[in-house]
Amino acid sequence: MESADGPVLKLDAEFPGVADLGFIGRTRSGAPVLENRDVIRLGQVHGTQVVDATAPGSFASTDGARTHTPNLLLTVRTADCVPVLLAHPSGIALLHAGWRGLAAGILEEGLSGFPDPESVRVVLGPAIRVCCYEVGPEVAAQFPADALRPGPRERPHLDLFHAATRRLVQHGVSPRSIVVAPFCTRCHQHLLASARGSAGGPERIIAFASYRTKPGG
Ligand SMILES: [Zn+2]
Repeated sequence: MESADGPVLKLDAEFPGVADLGFIGRTRSGAPVLENRDVIRLGQVHGTQVVDATAPGSFASTDGARTHTPNLLLTVRTADCVPVLLAHPSGIALLHAGWRGLAAGILEEGLSGFPDPESVRVVLGPAIRVCCYEVGPEVAAQFPADALRPGPRERPHLDLFHAATRRLVQHGVSPRSIVVAPFCTRCHQHLLASARGSAGGPERIIAFASYRTKPGG
């Protein structure tokens, strides 16, 4: 697929029976996937605010959206941070989780909207992986030692996926219910937007997800 901005990767996934999830790998606008859809847009600030959305719209200073309404298209824009889908039989949430959001509790905030975390299934979408995510000591200090690896340049590397999985499991999600995208954004810049790989360039991954109440519907 092509967009006005250039190449687009759309990975359609049907997971886990109550959510339709896809990713545009590199785009400036999200067209044409988002055209003629009832879209939820978030003014992401690396915080922990999650909105309960019932109608299309844009929400400032918000890093996650949850809905129990079919056909609303939740969207999150990332370039190295982790797009996170939470899917429960009663609804879904889509979250923007970088190191700041993870450390501040965005995952817990998203989970809090569902009654039983053991019934929540999770997709951790494409993000920068431990191979490429060198961090400073002030960032490393926010995370447990088992989420950090020694780096070749004396600075640690942070494993965002490990850190996210650890927190989800601590709050009742089954490890078997967590699926991790097998991509590093920086290693796969031809397919996926990477802020580090592009020195802060304008392209983003757009994750989009909608809720449907019955499998196959
Ligand atoms: Zn990498």
